[in-house]
Amino acid sequence: MNEPTSAAMKPCESPWMDDDLRMLREAVSRFVETEMLPREAQWRKQKHVDRETWRKAGEAGFLLMDVPAEYGGGGGDFRHEAVLYEECNRRGLSGFGQGVHSIAAHYVLNYGTEEQKSRWLPRMARGELIGAIAMTEPGAGSDLNGIRTRAVREGDEYVVNGSKIFITNGSIATILMLVVRTDPGDRSRGLSILMVETENLPGYRVGRVLDKMGMTAQDTSELFFEDVRVPADCLLGLEEGRGMHMLMGDLPYERLTIALGGVAAMEGAYQETVRYTKERQAFGQKIAEFQNTRFKLAEVATQVRVARVFVDRCIEQLVAGELDTETAAMAKWWITDIQQKVIDDCVQLFGGYGYMNEYLVCRMFADSRVQRIYGGTNEIMKELISRSI
Ligand SMILES: Cc1cc2nc3c(=O)[nH]c(=O)nc-3n(C[C@H](O)[C@H](O)[C@H](O)COP(=O)(O)OP(=O)(O)OC[C@H]3O[C@@H](n4cnc5c(N)ncnc54)[C@H](O)[C@@H]3O)c2cc1C
Repeated sequence: MNEPTSAAMKPCESPWMDDDLRMLREAVSRFVETEMLPREAQWRKQKHVDRETWRKAGEAGFLLMDVPAEYGGGGGDFRHEAVLYEECNRRGLSGFGQGVHSIAAHYVLNYGTEEQKSRWLPRMARGELIGAIAMTEPGAGSDLNGIRTRAVREGDEYVVNGSKIFITNGSIATILMLVVRTDPGDRSRGLSILMVETENLPGYRVGRVLDKMGMTAQDTSELFFEDVRVPADCLLGLEEGRGMHMLMGDLPYERLTIALGGVAAMEGAYQETVRYTKERQAFGQKIAEFQNTRFKLAEVATQVRVARVFVDRCIEQLVAGELDTETAAMAKWWITDIQQKVIDDCVQLFGGYGYMNEYLVCRMFADSRVQRIYGGTNEIMKELISRSI
């Protein structure tokens, strides 16, 4: 197997890397190679990642790496999280829902009381609790004001009724960041967030693990709530009605994780494609030698590099507390659009093998389609950006 040698193949190291992060990358990469990759085919078959892997990731210190150590996290920043996203996504490991786990934890970190942070974050960092974000409903996706899952206060509890759909980590999650309606009379200020521990919770039920086009190792699920009683001290943000406000505050973080995953997947697909086209022969020469292949790879190399520079800039801005909503939206829509185009070009260069699930680029192609849909659709991203113009 040829090692990459061309200038375009030289790794473009991010400006935010340092020696500590390089060591972390080595450790994460070893973990991914030994604990995740060998299990991926089984995860795809069973449609979920094993809880055991979550616990091992927690033991190794790879969960909540950007949460302060006093709450059980790694005490780092988003760059540390980025290393795990990159090492998973460039290998096409799309089932491990670390992104939503971290995002759910960040709501607790940013809006929780000291007691709430101490209650949930250390267990999430250890992988004992697996997080999910439960916003979307059959009748409310882009328009979250349509959320109908109802939470009614009764003494020291909320009684929750309703359902959610398309929930990442849905079947294995043991803590939900659940968006509920506490005031039916006020569409936008009537939303609140409850952190709900789901183990042995009466009235709570996981529905179907949904049958998807891609990301088949991910247990995207339906969730049902029937008179579920949640202690009132699980309300985030101290008072009811702050749900939408909290959701808006954390969007740049969420969108950057999607954009970064997109860049890492493109980098992985590109490397695989260069390797393959240098090995595969047709008409007495390597596929890589046809002018069309060289030009396609030149285009892909350029697009991946531009995306990488943009996402690196966003990472630096996020770490500095300066990533604004519009820039994060730009990164989300542009990178996920280009991701699909780039991976489609890679599939084409693999010929028929690119259509076979046993090939990484095939799985990455199917996995990439949803990147333009979740986390706010790309149309919603443009809507957001256009409002600031
Ligand atoms: C694999 C997967 C994982 C997911 N994970 C989660 C999760 O963990 N938690 C969670 O809560 N949700 C999750 N989702 C849900 C996801 O965020 C929603 O599907 C998404 O926000 C779109 O909502 P919708 O499906 O209801 O589409 P709709 O809102 O019905 O949109 C349909 C179409 O109309 C367009 N549209 C809507 N409004 C506008 C507008 N104002 N202007 C222009 N066009 C518009 C959309 O862009 C889209 O093209 C996931 C979805 C998938 C597929």
